[in-house]
Amino acid sequence: MTDDRPLVAGVMGWPIGHSRSPRLFDHWFRVHGMAGRYVPLAVRPEDFAEVYRALPRAGFRGVNVTVPHKIDALARADRATDAARAIGAANTIVFEADGSISADNTDAYGVARNLAEGAPGWSAADGPAVVLGAGGAARAVLFALREAGAPEIRLANRTREKAEVLAAGFPGVTVVDWDERAGALSGTATLINATSLGMTGAAPLEIDLGAAPQGMLVNDLVYTPLATGLITAARARGLRTVDGLGMLLHQARPAFRAWFGADPAVDGALRDAVLGP
Ligand code: NAP
Repeated sequence: MTDDRPLVAGVMGWPIGHSRSPRLFDHWFRVHGMAGRYVPLAVRPEDFAEVYRALPRAGFRGVNVTVPHKIDALARADRATDAARAIGAANTIVFEADGSISADNTDAYGVARNLAEGAPGWSAADGPAVVLGAGGAARAVLFALREAGAPEIRLANRTREKAEVLAAGFPGVTVVDWDERAGALSGTATLINATSLGMTGAAPLEIDLGAAPQGMLVNDLVYTPLATGLITAARARGLRTVDGLGMLLHQARPAFRAWFGADPAVDGALRDAVLGP
């Protein structure tokens, strides 16, 4: 069946004004010579179900879904990938030409690709990992690390109960107290910040890196700013670092493929387009 719907997709969130995804998709449309449109959709939680049902009827090929709609988007889909089910949330929705709705979660793929490209030679299987945070992003990180063979994951979150709920769904994850996060770095191969600490406008992430082995890789999911306090402190100690922007870029790639049928590149030009003024 030929798909003659216009090349239109978007991103649903509340709030959504800060999203850099439109820049990302606009860049790929330009590179591929496509007359496509990718629009930010400011959707209040109480309006989500109605808008979600209406978008395919308006010809949308799909949407990305961000806070606070990721769980709802999965629950209301007709089918879901294993990743979306394991993570318990969807970020990529395909409105199929037959009217059905498919849900995927590409955040874990984004984490994995970002680490593979940003730190060649590093492997999650090299040793235990410490993950900070127990929100939606942390769920994707746990899934990615587990899939990549991390032998042990130590999870620390300010609200310990949330970490315990999350750990219960992921074998091999042990919870450590937030106040013990620095000591937990001993013998680890990887540290990932999946809290919102360190974002422009948020409090800094306080963590003493003194116990970190010299070979430990540090990844911050926060990408505004690119050089967070954590990344800067890790570099000062000679540790390898990967910033969070690559996750944003990579997680979008499967969506572009599914909606528009072309395989876009994640490269320096894309980074510049997303970071540009
Ligand atoms: P979320 O569900 O709201 O979770 C926020 C997390 O930050 C929770 O673990 C929360 O702990 C913790 N936190 C917030 N304020 C804190 C504080 N003052 N002290 C200690 N912990 C604090 O958010 P999310 O969706 O998981 O996103 C987390 C971060 O990842 C955000 O900065 C987001 O921008 C980034 N992110 C990046 C990408 C990317 O593509 N690079 C993708 C997704 C998310 P409590 O449970 O105790 O509240």
